[in-house]
Amino acid sequence: MASYDVIIVGLGGMGSATAYHLARRGARILGLEQFGVAHDRGSSHGKTRVIRQAYHEGPEYVPLLLRAYDLWHALEREAGTALLTTTGAIYLGTPESPGVAGAALSARTHDIPYDMLRAEEIRTRYPVLHPRPGHVGLFEHQAGILVPEQCVATHIDLARRRGADLRFDEAVTSWTAGRDRVTVRTTRGSYEGGRLVFTAGPWTDQVLHDLGLPLRVERVVLYWFEPRARREEFIRVPIYAWHVDEVNLYGFPYLEGQGLKVAFHQVFQEATTPQTIRRDVGEDEVARMRDHLAGVMPDAPGRLLAAATCMYTNTPDSHFIIDRHPAHANVALACGFSGHGFKFCSVVGEVLADLAGRGETSQPIGLFALNRFRSVA
Ligand SMILES: Cc1cc2nc3c(=O)[nH]c(=O)nc-3n(C[C@H](O)[C@H](O)[C@H](O)COP(=O)(O)OP(=O)(O)OC[C@H]3O[C@@H](n4cnc5c(N)ncnc54)[C@H](O)[C@@H]3O)c2cc1C
Repeated sequence: MASYDVIIVGLGGMGSATAYHLARRGARILGLEQFGVAHDRGSSHGKTRVIRQAYHEGPEYVPLLLRAYDLWHALEREAGTALLTTTGAIYLGTPESPGVAGAALSARTHDIPYDMLRAEEIRTRYPVLHPRPGHVGLFEHQAGILVPEQCVATHIDLARRRGADLRFDEAVTSWTAGRDRVTVRTTRGSYEGGRLVFTAGPWTDQVLHDLGLPLRVERVVLYWFEPRARREEFIRVPIYAWHVDEVNLYGFPYLEGQGLKVAFHQVFQEATTPQTIRRDVGEDEVARMRDHLAGVMPDAPGRLLAAATCMYTNTPDSHFIIDRHPAHANVALACGFSGHGFKFCSVVGEVLADLAGRGETSQPIGLFALNRFRSVA
């Protein structure tokens, strides 16, 4: 039986980055993925992901984000390809809304440059955005777009070039861990290693059911529209995230060949599983998105060009889980990214390589500890 230093279960956003970082460090690694490279059945597809620094989810994330940016840029240099496009982002709502107030707190705490714009200024700068009187927009300069499929494929490619053994269309069916050895069984065989890393996204509960993690997988819909008018104006808008009447709606500039992509965040989502997710998108769902767009960007909802579904894996507090397995020091896991993890893949890969290598990391991951949940076995 072949033996590896580290075995990784799941090669999506987080697992592909982990493989890359471990391969860079010269580890003998095996990565196992049940589907193909950069597939569209998990959480890391859909053509675009937001990356930003004025993080309304908490200032604790910002040091990790700064490291994530550095690592994305380093990856771009190594691969000789662009992965991150800077567009800026504007967070709109009342000054007290979580998206605006939280972003301002993170920006002030970490000296991230931003502009606070009044409703009239927003309308002048971006005529297609229609904030309500009294609403504001926090504009963050460094925000931008990552192409998830390209990021995953790049991590995979560069890990392989450094000798990583990455196998696709091979699902992990069971595993055991002893003091020094782990054994993993798949649909094709058995493997042994020194350490094990789980990056199984929405499937985490199935491979780590022993832990009783408080995860909730939810179905999310992505919509691409052709604007009804002013396409040129939509090409030059930054990323936008609206918090209006307790609804979070965000989207991207109009991209050639794609259209205007918009989605709701943490609202109108239904509980699902990777096996049972409803992949068709109903007309009622499209109509609801049109209604909400009409209130904030009335020129946006023209012809629907495409729609797709994806999965969030939510934790009760929307913070990630990145830790070692409580019963096995040689097993690490990262999951529960709660719909905002992609931008962190680069740094999570580095953190997991630390945990799988020396068992600890100097990155600030205390917020993501498992022991914050009483239910965890
Ligand atoms: C619609 C949508 C929009 C989002 N927008 C943003 C955004 O703008 N910015 C942002 O930062 N984040 C965003 N996110 C969140 C982000 O995309 C996720 O947090 C991130 O992709 C999670 O990566 P992951 O590696 O945990 O999961 P995945 O990429 O799903 O990877 C898990 C992998 O494990 C594999 N696997 C599972 N079980 C097994 C097994 N038994 N054997 C072998 N392989 C297995 C799966 O096939 C899969 O490939 C969004 C998510 C969605 C769904």
